[in-house]
Amino acid sequence: MSKKITIVGAGLVGSLEAIYLAKRGHNVSVYERRSDIRKAELVAGRSINLALSTRGWTALKKVGIDDEVRKMAISMPKRIMHAQDGTLSEQPYGQDGEAIYSVSRGGLNVLLMNLAEREKNIDLYFNHKLISTDLNKAQAVFEDEKAKEQIVNADVLIGADGTYSTVRNHMMRQDRFQFSQYYIEHGYKELTIPANPDGSHQIETNALHIWPRGNYMLIALPNMDGSYTCTLFFPFEGEYSFESLKTHQQVEDFFNDVFPDIVPLIPNLVEDYFNNPTSSLSIMRCYPWTVSDKVLLIGDSAHATVPFYGQGMNAGFEGCYVLDKLMEKHGDDWKACFDEYSKYRKPDGDGVQDLSMHNFVVMRDKTADPQFLLQKKIELKFSKKYPEKWLPLYSMVSFSNIRYSDAWKIGQQQEALMQKIMSIPNIEGIWDSESVEQKMLALID
Ligand SMILES: Cc1cc2nc3c(=O)[nH]c(=O)nc-3n(C[C@H](O)[C@H](O)[C@H](O)COP(=O)(O)OP(=O)(O)OC[C@H]3O[C@@H](n4cnc5c(N)ncnc54)[C@H](O)[C@@H]3O)c2cc1C
Repeated sequence: MSKKITIVGAGLVGSLEAIYLAKRGHNVSVYERRSDIRKAELVAGRSINLALSTRGWTALKKVGIDDEVRKMAISMPKRIMHAQDGTLSEQPYGQDGEAIYSVSRGGLNVLLMNLAEREKNIDLYFNHKLISTDLNKAQAVFEDEKAKEQIVNADVLIGADGTYSTVRNHMMRQDRFQFSQYYIEHGYKELTIPANPDGSHQIETNALHIWPRGNYMLIALPNMDGSYTCTLFFPFEGEYSFESLKTHQQVEDFFNDVFPDIVPLIPNLVEDYFNNPTSSLSIMRCYPWTVSDKVLLIGDSAHATVPFYGQGMNAGFEGCYVLDKLMEKHGDDWKACFDEYSKYRKPDGDGVQDLSMHNFVVMRDKTADPQFLLQKKIELKFSKKYPEKWLPLYSMVSFSNIRYSDAWKIGQQQEALMQKIMSIPNIEGIWDSESVEQKMLALID
């Protein structure tokens, strides 16, 4: 039976969920706090991008919009590491043909909104900020740009309003609602490597570039216009930190010393450093994600994570896919559907957060460690020969739809096993040998 559904937030997940619900015949109204980004000017010189991987593609495909998105995606089959002395090394992300994809956050959001508006049973409202709710009635009160309030009654209210969700804040007033937030010690700042005059990229296009430096790192993802968006993940406090780099000279010296090959690529590096904002990074956990058959949290509002596995959006998109499957299973029983969604997905919300924290250490530190790179080479060779016995953790997360909670569990078992392999004497010399392969087989069985 068709329902009247309110979605709060026309971000990436809210827009996609609207399309899913509309295709099931529901009447969907999406309320967004910001003005319509399709009419706004892009902030000059800034273009933020995200890595899209298999889970995201699976969810886009289910509603038939993956081909549209593919037109704006740049494949990144490998990561390229930039050492402090300028030496480059590279590591494929998966098997031949496997890649993660760089897409513009704004571009993807605009496309999803346009596709949503194409559905006759979706209405989008901008400059509407959720300020109050009656959760048991799925009622929402929005304030528009003239501070005029509008009461919206619906059958179902979906909170797709991101990390600092207002819907979730109101759920916190419910008895036995669990919530925790954790800010990591690092923040981030975006910088841009502009395109060459002919519009080409200054560094290799089809790769995610990393400058791993132990406790911090810089990464860069390509944009379609030839530019690269760089993100510096850096501690807020300490010897090398946002706090310690106070003057133009300190920033210049720091980059010349630590990221020397970046300096000639960014003409206004120091100005950009001081002009661009520094943002914090956090993990939000909560439970349950529903109130009866009336309210549901989806995307970052339910499981915001740090960005080090490039999975926040992918997890949110996968949530839309899983919810749709459960709607198919439960038909008109929305309470059963929401209950199962919350119980089934919560371990995966926790899983993607644990994986994201784990990958921060891998990216900023391990990718510069020859032992780690050797370990990954051994795993890749083994998994090519015995794909049914071994799928590397990165592949489970980025190139499969295996549940995050399972990937995290299996990944930890694999790591324990690989520690035994890496402690074999002279593993550097014999990693390719039959004896190492046999040892791995013996340890697995
Ligand atoms: C630096 C960084 C890099 C990232 N890189 C990746 C990556 O490579 N790959 C990946 O998969 N993920 C990545 N992510 C995560 C990804 O951005 C998020 O997981 C994703 O945007 C979540 O989508 P969402 O729709 O749930 O939330 P959002 O995108 O935050 O959208 C929420 C929407 O709700 C609106 N809203 C909020 N409050 C209200 C209110 N009261 N009333 C009305 N509207 C409201 C907001 O304006 C917004 O439009 C990254 C995140 C960061 C910070």
